[in-house]
Amino acid sequence: MRFSSLGLSAPILRAIAEQGYETPTPIQAKAIPLVINGQDVMAAAQTGTGKTAGFTLPILERLSTGGRAQANHVRALVLTPTRELAAQVSESVATYGKHLPLRSAVVFGGVKINPQMMQLRRGVDILVATPGRLLDLYQQNAVKFSQLEVLVLDEADRMLDMGFIHDIRKILALLPARRQNLLFSATFSDDIRKLAKGLVNNPVEISVSPPNSTVQKVRQWICPVDKKQKPALLTQMINDNDWQQVLVFTRTKHGANKLTRYLEAEGIRAAAIHGNKSQGARTRALADFKMGTIRILVATDIAARGLDINQLPQVVNFDLPNVPEDYVHRIGRTGRAGSNGDAVSLVSADEFKQLSDIERLIKQLLTRQLMDGFEPVHSLPESYLNTRPLASKKSKPKQPNTTGSGRSTEGRRTTGHFKPTARKPHRSQ
Ligand code: AMP
Repeated sequence: MRFSSLGLSAPILRAIAEQGYETPTPIQAKAIPLVINGQDVMAAAQTGTGKTAGFTLPILERLSTGGRAQANHVRALVLTPTRELAAQVSESVATYGKHLPLRSAVVFGGVKINPQMMQLRRGVDILVATPGRLLDLYQQNAVKFSQLEVLVLDEADRMLDMGFIHDIRKILALLPARRQNLLFSATFSDDIRKLAKGLVNNPVEISVSPPNSTVQKVRQWICPVDKKQKPALLTQMINDNDWQQVLVFTRTKHGANKLTRYLEAEGIRAAAIHGNKSQGARTRALADFKMGTIRILVATDIAARGLDINQLPQVVNFDLPNVPEDYVHRIGRTGRAGSNGDAVSLVSADEFKQLSDIERLIKQLLTRQLMDGFEPVHSLPESYLNTRPLASKKSKPKQPNTTGSGRSTEGRRTTGHFKPTARKPHRSQ
């Protein structure tokens, strides 16, 4: 399959070639012709599948014909849950559309609204926006939707998780009924389907990553350790393995700050990225991380969502998320675009429930590996695979099934992950 067979015109194909993309990813191969054709699409695709180009390229194609956007008007609207994702989608629009005479803009909260109002004044063909700021702009008459042709909800599941449902409904009520709708989501939960009902018309459903397929591409393992020992263990892992670019997840903003301070005190350049940081601080941290001036980016789940960092080799779960699906999102940050990824979780005994829920969701027991000198005093119970499906995304962690059915020996194997120079790992139980 080649990009040239998907119905994209020369200026877009040129931009794709300049990016060095040779073949469309599966989501692109499926979505591009449908979107060019004007159909509504519901796509189950996670970050890392090439989904952004999957909707951006055909939208550019569609918008390249037809009249220009009038003052304050928008022809295509992409809604994203986070500022970071909005910025990245907008970057993709600019990259893929650079040989087209189309105007695009990005608007999100946390920065001054006036420059955004100025940008909208001339009209934009593609507007990428977070819901809250878009509504603010609408209330100030800075944006008009009567010319809208296409609506995209990107990472719709995350938008619902983040409580944007009311904002989304308000926005939908402002849009013309006749429009094309594209809904991208990592999962199609009941909530997403409910939202989709009032949104898409006869959509074509496409799915390129059956749930959790990302998980299989990534080498995942856990290191049982006492809670208090986690910062020291992480420091040793970074030093022993000479990790140069690591995304570390913490459950809380406070935890992210504390760990960042600890690492800095250990002489390891680190920065935290979370909801309490200003947009400027977040952008700077991400840029420093990409450039390699900081080695460790410590992030909370929401802040990390949508970060586009190519081929991130190493992800560390400093603590496990309460929502098991977040684990899948987290490790989706590594092993992207076909490269190998490694994801290690530092798991203390009090996190056993979260671990069991994750193993149940991904339908596998995670390989355990102890580190010499960090053997936990409070030992992590052995896992058993519970094959009953999880009730819902937001369900509280449940007790694992300990009846013995579905028991696996995989939890006893070591992975031999560390470089030969590292301390030799040994068996876990
Ligand atoms: P996304 O899933 O949209 O976040 O994209 C993941 C990454 O894959 C981005 O860094 C893109 O630049 C890259 N990418 C998208 N499409 C292709 C392609 N056809 N070939 C190679 N890389 C791609």
